[in-house]
Amino acid sequence: MEIKYNFGTCDNLSLSRYFPYTYTDTTNYYNSLSADYITKEIMWTSPQSKNMYLIKITNESISSDNKKVIFIVTRQHPSESSTSFVTKGIIDKLINATDEESEKFRKRYIWYIIPMANPDGIYYGESQFNYLGQDLNDCWDNSIYTSGCSETTAMKTKILDINSLYGIDLFIDSHGSNLVVGGILRVNESISSGVSDTYFLRSARATK
Ligand SMILES: [Zn+2]
Repeated sequence: MEIKYNFGTCDNLSLSRYFPYTYTDTTNYYNSLSADYITKEIMWTSPQSKNMYLIKITNESISSDNKKVIFIVTRQHPSESSTSFVTKGIIDKLINATDEESEKFRKRYIWYIIPMANPDGIYYGESQFNYLGQDLNDCWDNSIYTSGCSETTAMKTKILDINSLYGIDLFIDSHGSNLVVGGILRVNESISSGVSDTYFLRSARATK
């Protein structure tokens, strides 16, 4: 197949399957977050010295006993940049200081968000894989990569810690596709389509 395109006389040209949301974009956004109800953590550092961030958002003045816990993982697949825009929208909503609905979300829930699950893959422009050519989504139960993937191992450790501390009520694994607008949120309950989306909680079962 041959595709012809006339680029005209532009000096700078970028071609991208998805609108870019880079490692630096995520890092700059993470660094810019400073609202009172946010706790930030560099959860893990990759073999290529790239950071995996964890963001916790809640109203800390209200006991965790009365809250549900939601855990969101974004960008296991580097090319699915639409999910970074969706996740940024979620975070922006949750930290809105003047919005009544945002305040309810902070009072009723503890939100944990990993905005960039595959920092090496994103930094080095991978599509589906990490720096070592592993698909993180196939790493959760060690059935394909028997020794695991370091990114997934780090996430599972954190998820299990939080699950034993509070019990995770809802786990969301966000993906994107060039066939849909926005992102695809896969959750820890099978849906009526019959698609089984429970694989990522085989190790981290919700208990609450
Ligand atoms: Zn994906």
